[in-house]
Amino acid sequence: MTNAASAVWTPLDCHAHTTFSDGELTIDQLIARARERGVRPSVSDHLSSYMDSAVRTVEEVRAYLRALEEFDTMRAGEFCWHDSLWRELPDDLVRRFTHRLGSLHAIWLPNGTLVYAFSRRFPDITPDEYMEAHVENLQRFAREMPVDILSHPTLLPLALRHYPLEELWTEPREERAVRALATAGIAFEISNRYRAHERFVRRALDHGVRLSLGSDGHTYDQVADVAYQLTLARSLGVPDIELYDPRRHGSRTGFFASPAELRRVS
Ligand SMILES: [Zn+2]
Ligand SMILES: [Zn+2]
Repeated sequence: MTNAASAVWTPLDCHAHTTFSDGELTIDQLIARARERGVRPSVSDHLSSYMDSAVRTVEEVRAYLRALEEFDTMRAGEFCWHDSLWRELPDDLVRRFTHRLGSLHAIWLPNGTLVYAFSRRFPDITPDEYMEAHVENLQRFAREMPVDILSHPTLLPLALRHYPLEELWTEPREERAVRALATAGIAFEISNRYRAHERFVRRALDHGVRLSLGSDGHTYDQVADVAYQLTLARSLGVPDIELYDPRRHGSRTGFFASPAELRRVS
């Protein structure tokens, strides 16, 4: 860490989308928007084989990284836990990401069916049965998926969104989730889009899980909006420099251990 880097702390939006997936801004528009807000940008598009608006193949990931490398931005990606693409990426591509996010956009039930967070179809099970499967998937995700951040940790299927989060996320479930993240060294995202209840964020912090700021922005209005997340983190006593920043805290991609010329990023 240089003196210049420590002198002025600037928030980092670890999670935002461009036209490479389902965002509305191009890479340079996203970067300009973040700078306007006094925030350091990341591009973290959906990299997933099953989504309509996403980077869907290893070759497309290669092209995505090549495009990002033309710009002064963090180079990230949002991968789906239930999808196969993240398992197929060769190490030389993984190393070119500054950091990676993992998302539970769908959950495997014990009988092998998938429940998608954005589908109106919901199986004939109780909310409690769903939540047990959800937490088991989260624990497996933490063991198996080499990412740096769990995106929007409280994202749940549409059919369950009218229940209070505190009821679905019982304290024992929260406990299992944050222990899994702590063991794996995966950060808990404070998402502007899917806001967690404070008890869960506090519990993550109490277990030594690092917090990250994520706008999950898809539009000009949303990108790099980290005001709520930063206020919450500060209210919980988190020093700014402890918020996840791959440049400061490293990442599991190997990016910060690779040759200097590959690492040029602000
Ligand atoms: Zn997501
Ligand atoms: Zn996202």
